[in-house]
Amino acid sequence: MAAPYLILSPVGEIETRVMDILQDRLPGIFGFDTRVVPLLSDLSFAHDRERNQYHSTAVLEVLAARCPDDGLKILGVTCEDLFIPILTHVYGEAQLGGRAAIVSISRLVSGPDMGGVDAGDGRIVKEAVHELGHCFDLRHCEDDRCIMHYCRMLADVDKKSQDFCRYCRIMLKDDIKRLSPSL
Ligand SMILES: [Zn+2]
Ligand SMILES: [Zn+2]
Repeated sequence: MAAPYLILSPVGEIETRVMDILQDRLPGIFGFDTRVVPLLSDLSFAHDRERNQYHSTAVLEVLAARCPDDGLKILGVTCEDLFIPILTHVYGEAQLGGRAAIVSISRLVSGPDMGGVDAGDGRIVKEAVHELGHCFDLRHCEDDRCIMHYCRMLADVDKKSQDFCRYCRIMLKDDIKRLSPSL
């Protein structure tokens, strides 16, 4: 059987540069090959007319259903603004211990406290890793420097590091070992 890999899936139009950054960074963090596989381009099924945003949970279900069998986890990346009903917006959402995650770059690359191009890229990597972390069964972490810390605002995202704390790293390794004993 081929080695399991992570799928990075542009959802709608996404700059190649953003996909390149993620494809460059994710393998070193999770230890899996990462392939870019477009599987979903039309998000209209998840659009909420009143909010003019997209319901992330609905998108996750479609991504999980379309994920190829040998794809271990799938991370969708979109420019559209996402929400879940209890919140005004989310930077992303994931199926806890499941297969699919999504991150929206829309609020990460803009906003009043935008700190230059590099800050935008760093935020995208942080939130992408955070959401994939949930797919590897990681919950939110109280350590505000840990990448699994829940962030409500950009200032929170900028404050946390690009790493898992020691505790979350151990949990991540355990889950990866469980999923892929040969690694
Ligand atoms: Zn989270
Ligand atoms: Zn942590």
